[in-house]
Amino acid sequence: MAYRVTLVPGDGIGPEVTAAARLVAESTGVSIDWDVVEAGEAAIRKSGTPLPDSVLDSIRNNRVALKGPITTPIGGGFRSVNVALRQQLDLYASVRPARAIAGEGTRFPETDLIVVREATEGLYSGVEHWVDRDHNAAETVNVITRKASDRIIRFAFELARREKRRKVTAVHKANIMKTTGALFQIAFKALSTQYEDIVSEERLVDNMAMQLVKKPEEYDVIVTTNLFGDILSDLCAGLAGGLGVAPGALFGDGIAVFEPVHGSAPKYAGQDKANPVAEILCVELMLRHWGEREAADRVWRAVWETIAEKKVVTYDLALPGYTQRPVPPSSCSAMAREIARKVPLVDLTKPLPRPAAGGGPGLDPTLEA
Ligand code: NAD
Repeated sequence: MAYRVTLVPGDGIGPEVTAAARLVAESTGVSIDWDVVEAGEAAIRKSGTPLPDSVLDSIRNNRVALKGPITTPIGGGFRSVNVALRQQLDLYASVRPARAIAGEGTRFPETDLIVVREATEGLYSGVEHWVDRDHNAAETVNVITRKASDRIIRFAFELARREKRRKVTAVHKANIMKTTGALFQIAFKALSTQYEDIVSEERLVDNMAMQLVKKPEEYDVIVTTNLFGDILSDLCAGLAGGLGVAPGALFGDGIAVFEPVHGSAPKYAGQDKANPVAEILCVELMLRHWGEREAADRVWRAVWETIAEKKVVTYDLALPGYTQRPVPPSSCSAMAREIARKVPLVDLTKPLPRPAAGGGPGLDPTLEA
């Protein structure tokens, strides 16, 4: 039976990178029925709203969505479709794997970790106000509940078990935040006793940031509250090679939405230039979510080999700054075709090829382009 997936192409480079991801998904042989729906600017043009109910209905029915980035206008215009989607579907867990690929674009080629971020409460609860009329003082309330803490911590341990990860690290600031921090810490300590097959440890967030940029290879699954997770997941995306190669996933009860970490990069829209890897790795995460382990491993390996070989890679993976071996850049669609071509051919029994010259200098030109 085919899996049904809601496909949201999104704005800017979204249609190009989701077309690339769809091509690679189809090369795996796993049967997928795509329910293509529009959100963002295209939906506004057609139906006057950036997030029509039909999009939410489709995701609720299919339980899985593959999404491109959606533009959020600064100032006026519609409110963030991404935030609305998360709230409407109660997507409480934001999962960002940070895995260095073929030693490229990173000073830390051994990086291989997953950040699990609680996405519904904490300092993002929207409980804030000015204290005085002159706006000289303000307060944002950090809401932490036992229910949401238990839910995200259990999610992280279950993910670790499923993905055969050895360790879960809880990150908090319980030494200073003696109620909210302590509550998260207490929830973690209590639940860790139910997962004795997995090592559990705690870090204060400031120490964690320092540890991550010194020895990321020592970490495996990190679970934390909303703000700390927001910051650490971007830090880890940088460690692993930057925005162009960073996939993400959002999970609610029985619902999963896969989307890249990067945004809609409007200046590259329609140029067939953007890096499709982050969106393609969203397909890999989707396959893992279904338990299609071999197909997922094939996608991961085809991406890895394409980046290691560096014959057909987009501009951001081809230029000095990302790599020590600059090459002529290829288009988004050409790179997708190369990865799709490799998917059925890769040999999963061989060790992953690593570049002889070692890693690149670790800059991320997508951030400066
Ligand atoms: P961005 O990620 O779109 O771009 C940051 C930089 O990285 C730019 O230089 C861009 O050209 C480059 N870049 C991004 N993705 C790339 C790719 N795949 N290949 C090559 N280069 C790439 O971030 P931004 O400029 O802050 O945001 C643009 C829009 O996207 C905004 O409206 C923002 O709200 C939205 N956004 C949406 C999501 C989402 O849908 N989940 C996430 C982040 C930003």
